[in-house]
Amino acid sequence: RHFATAMIQRNPAFSSLNSDDINHFKGILGDKNVIEDEDTLLFANTDWMRKYKGSSKLLLQPRTTQEVSEVLKYCNSRRLAVVPQGGNTGLVGGSVPVFDEVIINVGSMKQVISFDKVSGVLVCEAGCILENLVSFLDNQGFIMPLDLGAKGSCQIGGNVSTNAGGLRLVRYGSLHGTVLGIEAVLANGDVLDMLGTLRKDNTGYDLKHLFIGSEGSLGIVTKISILTPPKLSSVNLAFLACKDYSSCQKLLFEAKRYLGEILSAFEFLDNESLNLALNHLEGVRNPLPPAMHNFYVLIETTGSDESYDKEKLEAFLLRSMEGGLISDGVIAQDINQASSFWHIREGVPEALMKAGAVYKYDLSLPVETMYNLVEEMRTKLGNSAKVIGYGHLGDGNLHLNISTPQYDDAILAQIEPFVYEWTSKQRGSISAEHGLGLMKANKIFYSKSHETVQLMASIKKLMDPHGILNPYKVLPHSIVSYS
Ligand code: FAD
Repeated sequence: RHFATAMIQRNPAFSSLNSDDINHFKGILGDKNVIEDEDTLLFANTDWMRKYKGSSKLLLQPRTTQEVSEVLKYCNSRRLAVVPQGGNTGLVGGSVPVFDEVIINVGSMKQVISFDKVSGVLVCEAGCILENLVSFLDNQGFIMPLDLGAKGSCQIGGNVSTNAGGLRLVRYGSLHGTVLGIEAVLANGDVLDMLGTLRKDNTGYDLKHLFIGSEGSLGIVTKISILTPPKLSSVNLAFLACKDYSSCQKLLFEAKRYLGEILSAFEFLDNESLNLALNHLEGVRNPLPPAMHNFYVLIETTGSDESYDKEKLEAFLLRSMEGGLISDGVIAQDINQASSFWHIREGVPEALMKAGAVYKYDLSLPVETMYNLVEEMRTKLGNSAKVIGYGHLGDGNLHLNISTPQYDDAILAQIEPFVYEWTSKQRGSISAEHGLGLMKANKIFYSKSHETVQLMASIKKLMDPHGILNPYKVLPHSIVSYS
């Protein structure tokens, strides 16, 4: 078993699945939505990085909220632990079972329920794949307020449950702002209808926020309503080179001021990240002429006036070039070139996977000191590993990745707890957007106080008294006790 799970014991309070259970589920869902097939289960038991692997014998695919409710009600009464799973693209071991938990995937719930062109509010089922929602909205002249490399597989329910950030957060804010309503099913089968479509609703505690980012530990999200921005006519993307990290930072500062309302993404990658993408991804090439640059930045603008926006971007780039912040750069000439630029940045996680083992850290840090961690880690690990840094600079979010040919406990001992302590000292977050999952459940105290974690545990206990929902994840094992 993976090192992170080696220390965990299966909670003996949970029942083991028997043939009566399976028959019961078939009664609720029909035979074909109760899956015992080994190949399908192998995929559902294994996470995207192939780092975490459970041994569940059952995958359930409910088609309606009512079915989710009946399934959970039964699991709760039988003390059968469950893992809610979406597209299984999560990066912290949260979406796969640790032991034999029953996997529940709402991927068959993939209907758009309504779309209001005036308000831009989309209401849909939680199993909709993000990219399908993007296509649907494109036809309506709108876009999703979030975009991420995993869009072809991840589900909107998974996005909401992880509070996914992604490439557009700098412009449209987090899902805590754009998600207007949620329908969720609690462990006991109760359905919480909080599927409002209002921008403003101050009638007491806004409980939907508990589900945004709770990683399947409080309920299964079945429907969502989300505010979507209109698709604007002019989108530009520049791929730029900078000589040092300080220039990237200054460029961000300037971009916020001079590009202002049209800035829609600001991403960075270091030279090592680019090389990894060039070496491991098919069809990727450096958009800039060969030269040694230490950093690369992607700046996207989105606006409503083609000539004004382009002029504004070009003037900004010229100014930044003259000021020495940019050493080279190119603006995408068409949509194909733009997607090839994005492919470089979005492809880094896949390139890392292809390169071998990877230790992934997703940190919120002050932009000013963020890259020091990458450099310190490089000094610490020397030639034993490749250390790369990239991410959502516009949001203060560093993806620190350490790549080695295979997993090695000695390397891990050099990385952890160092990386968490470093982050904590800066009052950063040990999870900017991927969540805690299994990987970081026991590390929560690096970013949250004891009192806060105690309150979280009380909320968990109140909403899921037997702890059947995604056990061993999110909260530290020392703090959760169940009846
Ligand atoms: P899963 O991986 O299946 O599940 C994730 C968590 O949510 C689990 O804890 C699971 O139990 C829970 N869950 C899933 N569905 C439900 C539901 N309906 N109800 C309750 N709980 C549920 N993340 C970012 O934030 N920003 C990025 O830019 C980004 N880029 C990525 C790029 C790549 C190439 C990859 C592989 C991943 C990336 N991720 C990113 C991580 C991941 O894609 C996101 O966390 C995504 O939101 C997960 O969605 P999913 O449907 O795959 O959920």
